[in-house]
Amino acid sequence: MLEHMTEDGTLHWRCHNAACDPMSAHISHPEVQHPPTPDGGQDTRLVALPKCPSCGATTFLNIGFTPEHLAEPTIVRDANGNIASVTVNGPANLVCIEVEDYDTLVEDAHMAHLKRVLDGLHLNVEIPGMYHPVQQRRIKSVQRPAWLAHHLKLREMMQAHGKTPEEGRGT
Ligand SMILES: [Zn+2]
Repeated sequence: MLEHMTEDGTLHWRCHNAACDPMSAHISHPEVQHPPTPDGGQDTRLVALPKCPSCGATTFLNIGFTPEHLAEPTIVRDANGNIASVTVNGPANLVCIEVEDYDTLVEDAHMAHLKRVLDGLHLNVEIPGMYHPVQQRRIKSVQRPAWLAHHLKLREMMQAHGKTPEEGRGT
């Protein structure tokens, strides 16, 4: 997986084998290229990286994102600026929604009613447990997966370095 891509075009990645050392290479490395297709073209949706010196594996990175993958989610916020709802635009959309659970204290309507009745009778009775915690769930954050920015950068760099053929360039 691609862990980082620097502004000067250096890729830092690891192969699928956790025992292997991390690797790095500049985008201009001759083995950084689109893999060939059976018909003699290039698969511009993928980028092959130089072989791992330890295990010989080639890492392929996906850069074939469609507008649907990248569409912004629709975020609705409440008056306090908290996220009230998120609509993910499309089934392939690359978005990470982080939720968290929290407790709110909710007044127990039955106990509140009982207290009002007893107060009305001028009985000085303590009623415990007027409030009880209710677990709720809220959206903490909406963001792109961390790796996506690096893959988009790689796609941009492949074009900037002339490695992506003209017909493979698109949005
Ligand atoms: Zn390896």
